Amino acid sequence: MIRFDVITIFPEIFDSYFKESILSQAVKKRLIKINIHNLRDYAKGRHQTVDDRPFGGGIGMVLKVEPIFKTVAALKKKSKAKVILFTPRGKKFNQKMAHRFSKLDQLIMISGRYEGVDERVAKYIADEKVSIGDFVLMGGELPAMMVIETVSRLIPKVIGKPRLLKERVTKEKGFLEFPQYTRPEIFSPKGKIKWKVPEVLLSGHHKKIEEWRKKHTKIIEK
Ligand code: SAM
Repeated sequence: MIRFDVITIFPEIFDSYFKESILSQAVKKRLIKINIHNLRDYAKGRHQTVDDRPFGGGIGMVLKVEPIFKTVAALKKKSKAKVILFTPRGKKFNQKMAHRFSKLDQLIMISGRYEGVDERVAKYIADEKVSIGDFVLMGGELPAMMVIETVSRLIPKVIGKPRLLKERVTKEKGFLEFPQYTRPEIFSPKGKIKWKVPEVLLSGHHKKIEEWRKKHTKIIEK
C-alpha cells in the first residue's frame, strides 16, 4: 500500500476534496493512505513561525528549512520512500513520473507557499523537485492533489472497473485517451443547430469503432 504524506501550512484545503472523491473509497479499502500534516505543528516558539523574510531583501516571505526538516524526519517511515518538493522550477510532472511514483511505498510531498521555500530544502531534503506546468500557482496544495490522484489511478483496484484500465492501457506505451459521447444522439441547443454523435459510434460495428477510436486517440505516454 502506498502512503502519501503532504506537508502544508493550509491542511484544511484538502478536507472536502479527499472526502468527496473516489480516493476516499480507496482509503477506506486500504489501497492507499493519505496523511496531511500541518507544518506549524513542527515549528518552534509560541507563534509557531514557519516563514521568514528572504536574505538579500525582496518582498514576501519564505518557508523556513528547520520545520520542514523536522517534519520530513518524523514522517519518513518506509524504505522505498521519496521526498518531493513542488516548485515551478522542477521537472515537469507527467504520466511516466506517476508510474514511477506508483511503485513507491511512501511519497512525501512538500507544498510551498508565499515566495517559496528555503532553497536548502531542494538541495538537501528533497529527492526531486516537481513542477506541474509552466505557470505559477499560489501554493503546492493543488499540485499535491494532482499527483495523488494521478498516482492513485495506477494502483490496482483503485478504479472500480479493472476492464476499463485494461482497455485503455497499452503495455509498451501508456494510456489511450479518445473522445467519448453519450445520449442524446442529437443535441439541439438552439432549436436549429444539431450537434451529432459521429455515426460510426452508433453503428454497432466494433471493428469500425475501434478504427475510429484509434484515429482519434492520444497516447499519454508511460
Ligand atoms: N519562487 C518560488 C519558486 O521558485 O519555487 C515559487 C513560489 S509560488 C508563488 C508558491 C508555491 O507554490 C511554491 O513554493 C510551490 O510549492 C507552489 N507552486 C507554484 N507553481 C507551481 C508549479 N507550477 N508546480 C508546482 N508547484 C508550484
